[in-house]
Amino acid sequence: MSDSIPSPQVQLRFLKQIQQILHSGSFSSTYKFALLMSLCRLAIEQGQDTGDRLTLDYLDIAEKFIDLYWKQTLPFHFNENEPFLLHQNNGKQAGVVSLIHNAQQRFKSIALARRDRAYWSKLKKKVADIVKKMPVTYLQNIKGQNIQFLYCLDDSQKQLVLLPQVMYCLRQFSEIIEELCQKKWVDFVRLNKSNLLVLDGLPDLARFMFEPSRNQLNQVAKFLVDLQSCQCFYCQKPIKMNKWAVDHFIPWSMYPADTGHNFVLADEKCNSSKSDFLASDEFLQRWQERNTNFDIVITEELSGLGFLTDINRSHRVADWAYGQAKENGYLLWVNK
Ligand SMILES: [Zn+2]
Repeated sequence: MSDSIPSPQVQLRFLKQIQQILHSGSFSSTYKFALLMSLCRLAIEQGQDTGDRLTLDYLDIAEKFIDLYWKQTLPFHFNENEPFLLHQNNGKQAGVVSLIHNAQQRFKSIALARRDRAYWSKLKKKVADIVKKMPVTYLQNIKGQNIQFLYCLDDSQKQLVLLPQVMYCLRQFSEIIEELCQKKWVDFVRLNKSNLLVLDGLPDLARFMFEPSRNQLNQVAKFLVDLQSCQCFYCQKPIKMNKWAVDHFIPWSMYPADTGHNFVLADEKCNSSKSDFLASDEFLQRWQERNTNFDIVITEELSGLGFLTDINRSHRVADWAYGQAKENGYLLWVNK
């Protein structure tokens, strides 16, 4: 019996989960983007518009990886700099890139490499091993918590078995997923420390165009240091001089606009660990109480700095965000 086509609710939830994975920020390499894009392409090439499972060969996924990375492994020319290899990993260069780099020393093009049957199949096998060990294992893992909505790892030892209805959704939303992945991939490469040495000349237009200025946030920090007696909003420990961060209680990635009451002061550790997550309910309550208790001073100070500051508005945004989280099964950040 075949599985039915997913309901609109299930499809929406699927998209939300993809979004959650891409926003989780816990990417140590670009493999996860490559894997998502590969799955979309293979669902289109090998699948159909039904709710059935789709079984994918790791070698086919590897081939898609090689396709995606071949171009990116060629020397990148930028301004006056020596042409260089883009880093696709935090730390050591990504294994797939090194394998492809070696292949490029031997073959002038991917077509020529493909024509050497023996070499090609060895390369695919090596890439497949990495794919299975790295992105397939970690794609659905968000900060140690697993959301297995694409495939179940236990079923996917020899081949990757997509769960029922996943093939349908990948085919349905491939353009959105591809576009999101490409954008995130570019950001990752551009902001990777090893690439920054060279790419530093590129202005961060997105930050310039959409995000609050450093200067403004520094002024918010000054105010919050007073308001919170220089204690971290989350763990409530005293924060060392200048080791603080202005945290968007409702993450910027969910609601990319500043409302005054949304800012809290956190230490760097809590801030980076929370990253793009919503905090758990206990913090929501603490935040709402803080806003109610200090509404007048927050409104006065932060609207003075040029932020739209309205407690009801901020709390409505929070209602929406936590409503989304509940409806779509987002993980909430718990301070461990
Ligand atoms: Zn803290």
